[in-house]
Amino acid sequence: MIPIQSKLPGVGTTIFTVMSKLAADHNAINLSQGFPDFDCDPELVNYVAEAMKNGFNQYAPMAGTMELRNVIAAKTESTYGLAYDPETEITITSGGTQAIYTALAATINAGDEVIIFEPAYDCYSPTIRSLGGLVKPFELSAPDYEIDWNMVKKLFSVNTKMIILNSPQNPTGRILKENDIAELIKLTRNTDILILSDEVYEHIIFDGEAHLSMAQYPELRERSFIVASFGKLLHATGWKLGYCLAPDYLMKEFRKIHQFNVFSVNTPMQIGVAKYLSVPSRYLELADFFQQKRDLFRKLLTETKFNLLPCNGSYFQCVTYNKIGDLSDKEMAISLVKDFGVASIPVSAFYIRNTDHHVLRFCFAKKQETLEKAVERLVKL
Ligand code: PMP
Ligand code: GLN
Repeated sequence: MIPIQSKLPGVGTTIFTVMSKLAADHNAINLSQGFPDFDCDPELVNYVAEAMKNGFNQYAPMAGTMELRNVIAAKTESTYGLAYDPETEITITSGGTQAIYTALAATINAGDEVIIFEPAYDCYSPTIRSLGGLVKPFELSAPDYEIDWNMVKKLFSVNTKMIILNSPQNPTGRILKENDIAELIKLTRNTDILILSDEVYEHIIFDGEAHLSMAQYPELRERSFIVASFGKLLHATGWKLGYCLAPDYLMKEFRKIHQFNVFSVNTPMQIGVAKYLSVPSRYLELADFFQQKRDLFRKLLTETKFNLLPCNGSYFQCVTYNKIGDLSDKEMAISLVKDFGVASIPVSAFYIRNTDHHVLRFCFAKKQETLEKAVERLVKL
């Protein structure tokens, strides 16, 4: 064996892979990894197939097809009121994950500090560390995961390079509100701090709340990379298609990394997705669609001993289980799979220190019958 110095010592396989495998091994209902168990619209598949049949099978332009960038520019402007130039400020990526990686690789140097809010999506911290950056986690707590900005301030130092935000947040379903945005503007004003805003659940937001995007605040827009994923938007997580928005001076650096990492993303899907999304109702109806699933799942869960945490967005419902027992969340998640046949995600996996508030995350992007069957099993606890 040739010795190599690991970039990520101590990192194993992601919790999503571990729990999905455990679910498969035990023939459990998989509410762990976040993906729909229903198919995307056949019309979308037709559009992609049509693009393949029509010969769109060679490299796309490095930044993505103009058709798709134009659709994204129109969607962003009509939704948030601020324009992004499709020529210089929008890049199509291979999913949200690659957009996150590329934004970080383009900006983080050794010793740079990045503030993240935990529980945090799993790829932020290892990516920052693999680039030589230092992660400064700010831990939020159940039940409401509110951000105490006075405490956040204490994490700032001369080395703070970036803040990563994620609204609606995976796994908590928490959304940023106007007061959070006001604090963020205050904290970053007259600084060189960048923002990476993971907005992959932008259209999955409930109870008439509006998603507050970095795109709609000029002071934040000028320092932000915004990440989006068509996996969430189209019920097609396996397509690994997403995009990044950023002002041109940031996008220039983003593309320098992107062109030598993936160069460009597959062409026929971009053509098909552009055609599909030229009808805005296809993404505007997503909130209602998932709110019905959230409401159904929450109603079903009231028959169990779980306590429901709030869920304002995303397709995840978190629960606590103090009426059931005091196992660690990992032990509880394993027992749910092995003894009750339902897979979830232990939320401690989203904290660097594995902080355990005894919270489990369930994905409700599932058919009604799947949710009903799962809860039939969970009532036995
Ligand atoms: N950010 C968050 C918060 C996510 O939940 C996910 C995936 N579910 C991603 C980024 C990655 O998106 P993609 O699957 O398009 O890479
Ligand atoms: N984003 C999905 C989730 O939170 C999982 C994606 C993955 O498995 N990498 O469950």
